Amino acid sequence: MIEEHDDKTIRCPRVGGEVNFRFCRFENNMLPCRLIVGCWQMQMDISKFLEDHYSKEELKRIFVPPKPKIQSLVDLIEKAKREGSAE
Ligand code: SF4
Repeated sequence: MIEEHDDKTIRCPRVGGEVNFRFCRFENNMLPCRLIVGCWQMQMDISKFLEDHYSKEELKRIFVPPKPKIQSLVDLIEKAKREGSAE
């Protein structure tokens, strides 16, 4: 059952306070945080949990490296340009 670890808590290096596993499961656009393996590996078999509950496609999306901020900005500007020229 995917909710079985939801009430476990840990100190989150990103939030700077305590969070529960449920938070970590949804942190990344409703998918698990990409740091979930490092954070939870001492508390449970996190690799097995991910394999059991997420597809290969979802796992790829979870662990895709974040775009550098400047690339995200360029993408946003290009998207805005495309949408602006579509009118
Ligand atoms: S997995 Fe992500 S959200 Fe959860 S404790 Fe680690 S850094 Fe924080």
